[in-house]
Amino acid sequence: MEFKQLNLISPLLKAISETGYTTPTAIQQKAIPVILSGQDLIGCAQTGTGKTAAFALPLLQRLSEHNAHGKTMPIRALILTPTRELAIQIGENINLYRKHLKLNYCTIFGGVNQDRQVKEIKKGVDILVATPGRLLDLMNQKLVFLDKIEVLILDEADNMLDMGFIHDIKKILAKVPEKRQTLFFSATMPPNIRKFAHGILHKPVEVDV
Ligand code: AMP
Repeated sequence: MEFKQLNLISPLLKAISETGYTTPTAIQQKAIPVILSGQDLIGCAQTGTGKTAAFALPLLQRLSEHNAHGKTMPIRALILTPTRELAIQIGENINLYRKHLKLNYCTIFGGVNQDRQVKEIKKGVDILVATPGRLLDLMNQKLVFLDKIEVLILDEADNMLDMGFIHDIKKILAKVPEKRQTLFFSATMPPNIRKFAHGILHKPVEVDV
């Protein structure tokens, strides 16, 4: 299978080939068509399987297809991830894949001064990559608004719950529109994680690798 067969648009195919990828990984082959169709998804995949591109590529495509830029530039997609390292990695991946598109992103995480992150967000970002604690902190200060989110992605959901982010995530979820696409990635799917997933997803398609 080739990336071309996944119906990805040429700005993405170009970025993929410039990044050096030749064939989509298993999770990419399975998840990309589902995400492009607009359905919710549960993806059972570990880090290292190519799961970041599996959600980032179709996310960028969907956002570029319905480019709703008005005068204000609301955040249209939110990616929640447990750690600063993962947030940075996801941001770096998005930066590679969005190279030929007019979409921007910002990465926020705790443990550093918030000023630079706030300044970035104020410029207007399409995609926000965030750890739950810092995001909630900025939401409480009314520096971030999530009322125009179209796509919500939970990355390493099992780790986020293990790290005790459940309450933060619930508060964040309460501020995201109900009508949205939700993508839920987790390396493991024990009953408590599955129950949590089904509470926030709408008729999800499940893909496993
Ligand atoms: P991830 O599981 O998202 O952390 O990705 C693991 C690594 O695989 C990252 O370094 C990606 O850049 C790389 N990668 C993702 N998709 C592909 C692909 N289709 N071909 C080759 N490398 C890839």
